[in-house]
Amino acid sequence: MDDQHSKIRSADIIPLPAFRDNYIWLLRRGPWAAVVDPGDASVVEAALREHGLRLVAILLTHHHDDHIGGVAELAARHHPAVFGPAGENIPGVTRRVGDGDEVVLHALELRFSVLAIPGHTPTHIAYHTPGIVFAGDTLFSAGCGRLFGGTAAQLHTSLQRLAQLPNDTAVYCAHEYTLANLAFARAAEPVNPARDAWLAECEALRAAGRPTLPTSIGRERSINPFLRTDAPGLIDTVATHSGQRPANSAECFAALRRWKDVF
Ligand SMILES: [Zn+2]
Repeated sequence: MDDQHSKIRSADIIPLPAFRDNYIWLLRRGPWAAVVDPGDASVVEAALREHGLRLVAILLTHHHDDHIGGVAELAARHHPAVFGPAGENIPGVTRRVGDGDEVVLHALELRFSVLAIPGHTPTHIAYHTPGIVFAGDTLFSAGCGRLFGGTAAQLHTSLQRLAQLPNDTAVYCAHEYTLANLAFARAAEPVNPARDAWLAECEALRAAGRPTLPTSIGRERSINPFLRTDAPGLIDTVATHSGQRPANSAECFAALRRWKDVF
């Protein structure tokens, strides 16, 4: 496999809505498919049938039930390679991977590198290939994951790490939370024209029944309050809300995360 084979077209990454607001991302090339975070096997089975695909790999970003619930059934039926975070003992995982590891999907001619991005959970990982990152529940459009076991400092560092990816990197998040996140973003940073433009776009997308995802690193850097903890307008609002001026970006992030928890 050489580099010219390591790209996948966005048209070959299909969102499978699951539960209330999850997306299971299906990747396809020719007759082969992989899925990311299959919380529900029946949704994946229906897509495989519809498109005439064979499942060869499952990528898991973290251990929460709504991301792994379909693994056992899919594994029993299709025997895919199942990649999951090294720090968790997730049933059905055939290869545990950690920061810097490579995940090669030969059938799909894809090669990912694993990024450790703890915070939402202590062992959360992302899968990155040039132009694309599967970010699980760590980075959402206009928001980020809640703290379920990790610390605010970890999540802040992880988001900063994702923000260092090239601006045109497409971010495939695991939930359709964008409109709710944008409501908070507007409270946290009242003046942000780029954010207002994205809100209008997302309202139109949702009204048409379409996903707001993937987003991009460049967009999130300009509209996502959790990536903007150095922005003066946001720092002012956080200071007013919390009654204390954050001393640095990490403190601003922690205060913002606490505020969003009760917003
Ligand atoms: Zn989760």
